[in-house]
Amino acid sequence: MFAIKRALKLNNREATLMAKHAGFRRVVFNLGLSLRTQMYGERKFTDSKVIDEIKKVLTNHVKKQPEYAWMNQLSSRVYQNALIDLKEAFSRYREGKASHPTFASRRDGQSFTVDSSNGKVLLKSGNTIKIPTLGTFRLDEPLECGFVSQTFTISKEGNRWFVSFCVDAERCSVQQPESSVGIDLGVKSFATMSNSQVFDAPKPLKQAKTKLAKLQRKASKQRAGSNNQRKTLSKIGRLHARIACIRKDFLHKLTTYLATTFKSIKIEDLNVKGLLANHKLAGAIADLGFYEFRRQLEYKCQMYGTLLVVVDRWFPSSKICSNCGHKKEMPLQVRTYDCPTCGVSIDRDLNASLNILNWEPSA
Ligand SMILES: [Zn+2]
Repeated sequence: MFAIKRALKLNNREATLMAKHAGFRRVVFNLGLSLRTQMYGERKFTDSKVIDEIKKVLTNHVKKQPEYAWMNQLSSRVYQNALIDLKEAFSRYREGKASHPTFASRRDGQSFTVDSSNGKVLLKSGNTIKIPTLGTFRLDEPLECGFVSQTFTISKEGNRWFVSFCVDAERCSVQQPESSVGIDLGVKSFATMSNSQVFDAPKPLKQAKTKLAKLQRKASKQRAGSNNQRKTLSKIGRLHARIACIRKDFLHKLTTYLATTFKSIKIEDLNVKGLLANHKLAGAIADLGFYEFRRQLEYKCQMYGTLLVVVDRWFPSSKICSNCGHKKEMPLQVRTYDCPTCGVSIDRDLNASLNILNWEPSA
C-alpha cells in the first residue's frame, strides 16, 4: 500500500467549494468536541455511543437551524469523517498517545476528508480525478495508471489544494521492452542516453526564456512602482508560470517514457560539488529542472517497478574513454572525446552516458 498525493488545478469556483468543505469539517469537529465535552460526565457512554449522540444532535437540531443550512449543500461525507476524526482523537487521548483534542482553527490549515460510502472506487489514469461526493477535478500531474481507493483527503498548502489517498496496488504493472540505459544530463542537451537518443529541452521553453530575459531588462529600466513597470512585472509573472508549465510537461513525458521503457536506469548524482561551485552551471541546472527530473523519475520508477541506480557522485563520467578506459581531463567546452590511446572519437555526452551505463558499485 502506498500514498499518492497530487496537486489539484482548481478554478475559483472549485477552490471556493474546497474552502467551504474545509470550513464545514472545522465547524462539525468543533461542535462535536464541545458536545463531547458536555457529555463527558456520562461515563456509561462509549466513544461510539457518544458519536452517535453527537450525530443525532447535529442532524436533528444543528443542521435545521437557518444559520447552519449551508451544511446541507455540502458533502455529508465530510461531516461523517470529521466525527470519525474526533472519535480517533479521543481514543488516542485515552491511550496516552496524544493530548486532549483541541478546537480546530483556520490557522491549523484547511483540510477535510471524504470517502465513498459504496466501497472502493476506480480512479482512471489521466489528467483528472473523480473524488467521491465532490466531483471531477483537474490534476497538476496525471495519474499514471488506474488506481483503486476509498478515502480522500483534500488539503491546502500555501495557495494550492492537494488530494491524497492510499492505494492497495504495489505498483502499476508494465513490461519494459528495453533492458538498461545510462543517462547523462547536460546543459547543451537535456538528456543524452547510452543508446544514442538525445532529449533537448523543448523549443518553446528556449523562446520563452529569451522573452523573459528581455522583459526583465525592460522592467529594470522602468520607473519603480510605475504603472508601466507593474504591467511588465505582471507579464513576467505570467511568463514564469508558462515556463514552469512547459518544463513540467516536458519532464513528465520524458520520465514516464524512461520508466516504462527501460528495466534499469542509471543516472548521475547531481549533488556534485564541482558543478554547484560553478555558479553559472548551478543556475543552469536549477533552471533546467534537474532536481524535478530526479524527483519524478524516482517516484515513477518506484511505481512501474523500474530499477533506478544512482551513480557515485565522484565518478568522473566525462573523463573516461568508454571504449578503452583511458582517463584524461575534459574541460567543459570540449564537445568531443578524442581518445589518445584507442583513437575513438565520440560525442562528449554520449561517452559520459556510456560510462554511466557501465558503472558498477564498488563492493
Ligand atoms: Zn580509448
